[in-house]
Amino acid sequence: MDSNQLINMADLFGAHNYKPLPIVISRALGVWMWSVEGEKYLDMLSAYSAVSLGHCHPDLVSVLSDQASKLCITSRAFHSDQLGQFAKELCELTGMTMMLPMNTGAEAVETAIKSARKWAYIKKGIDLDQAEIICCRNNFHGRTTTIVSFSSDDLCRKYFGPFTPGFVLVDYGDAEAIAKAITPQTCAVLVEPIQGEAGVLIPPNGYLKELRRICDENNVLLMLDEIQTGLGRCGKLFAYEHEDIVPDVLILGKALGGGIYPVSAVLASEDILGLFTPGEHGSTFGGNPLACACAREAIKIIVREKLPQRAQELGERLQNGLRKINNPQIKEVRGKGLLTAVEFHTGKTNARQYCHRLMKNGILAKETHETTVRFAPPLVITEDEIDWALDRITQAFQADPNDSVG
Ligand SMILES: *Cc1c(COP(=O)(O)O)cnc(C)c1O
Repeated sequence: MDSNQLINMADLFGAHNYKPLPIVISRALGVWMWSVEGEKYLDMLSAYSAVSLGHCHPDLVSVLSDQASKLCITSRAFHSDQLGQFAKELCELTGMTMMLPMNTGAEAVETAIKSARKWAYIKKGIDLDQAEIICCRNNFHGRTTTIVSFSSDDLCRKYFGPFTPGFVLVDYGDAEAIAKAITPQTCAVLVEPIQGEAGVLIPPNGYLKELRRICDENNVLLMLDEIQTGLGRCGKLFAYEHEDIVPDVLILGKALGGGIYPVSAVLASEDILGLFTPGEHGSTFGGNPLACACAREAIKIIVREKLPQRAQELGERLQNGLRKINNPQIKEVRGKGLLTAVEFHTGKTNARQYCHRLMKNGILAKETHETTVRFAPPLVITEDEIDWALDRITQAFQADPNDSVG
C-alpha cells in the first residue's frame, strides 16, 4: 500500500487527536527514517525526545529480543529478576534512594502527585483533602483528566471537565510568584526545568536555585518533570544539574525506555516514596521485566556513549548554525543541549508551513504552537549530520514557504 492509502485508512478508522505531517514511515535506524516510498529523512523530533539513543540501537534491540524470548511480564504479584536491578541502577544514576516504575510519562506525573499528597497528610500534617500543588502556566505534564486540570491550554481542557481540584497556577520563570502562592496547604511545586511542549521556553538563570530555596524555607517538595529534558537531552544528565540543585521528586519517562518501550519512573527519598503501602498505587505493566531490561540497557548506553556531553557540544553547533540563518521572520533561536527551537514572528507564514518545507528538504521536525519549530534530534547524531541538517534547514527557512516550490 502507498502512503496515501495508509494515511486515508488511519484517518478513516483512527480518531483525529493528532495532526501528523503527511508522511508514512516504515523503517528507521540511528537518526534516519525511511518512508514507505523509500525516501530518507533526518529525524529531528525524536518522538518528542524519546529516541535519544537513535532508532533501533543495536545493543538495545538485542537486549529487547533476548528478554522478549525469556520473560516479558510477571505483573507485580511476583518478583522478576529484572526489577530489583533496574531500581538499584536507576537510583545509583540519579542519586535518589527510591523509585517507583510506571509506563507513560503521564502515569509517572500522576504518581508524583499522589506521593506528594500522601506526604502532605502523613508528614507535613496538612488537613485531609486540602493539599495544594503549585504548577506553572503553559505547562505540559500529560493528558489524564487530573493533569489537564492544571493545564492553561484551552485546547487541552475545554471539553474535559469537571476537573481535579488542588492545583494553583503561576507564571513560568517567576520564582517570586511561587513564593507568593505558597500557603500552609502547599505540599509541592511541580515544574519542568525547560517547558518543551510550550516551545522550549527557558526560565531565567537561577530560577531552579530560587525554587529550591523557597521550597526548603517552606517545607514544600520540589518536583521536577524531566520527562523531556532528562537523560542527557539538555547537555547534562538532568537539566537541573545546570543549576547545581537536587529536586525532592524526579519524574522520568520518554528516553528512559530507550525510545523502544514505554518506561517511566518517579524517584525520591524513602521519606516520600516509602509512604506508599501495598495496594495504594500500581500498574499492571509498570516495572515489567521487558521494560526493566530495556531501561537498564538504555541507561548503560547513555553513560557509555556520553550522550549528555554530545548533546552539549552538538547543541551548541546546531544553535550557532541556526543563528546564522538569514530570515527576518525569525524572532529567536533558543535551546539547551539538543533541545532547541526556532521561533518565528507571527505573520503570513506559520511554523507548520515551515515544517512542510523542511520535510521536502529531508528534515522531519514538528511545530509547537503557531510560531515555533522544535529541533530535538537523537543525541547520537554526528557533527557531519548536524552540518547536513543545517544546510537543509537553511534552504527551507531562507525561502518563503508561500512560494510554491513543490
Ligand atoms: C511527554 C511529556 C509528558 C507526558 O508523557 P506521556 O508518555 O506522553 O504520557 C509529561 N511531561 C513532559 C514534560 C513531557 O514532555
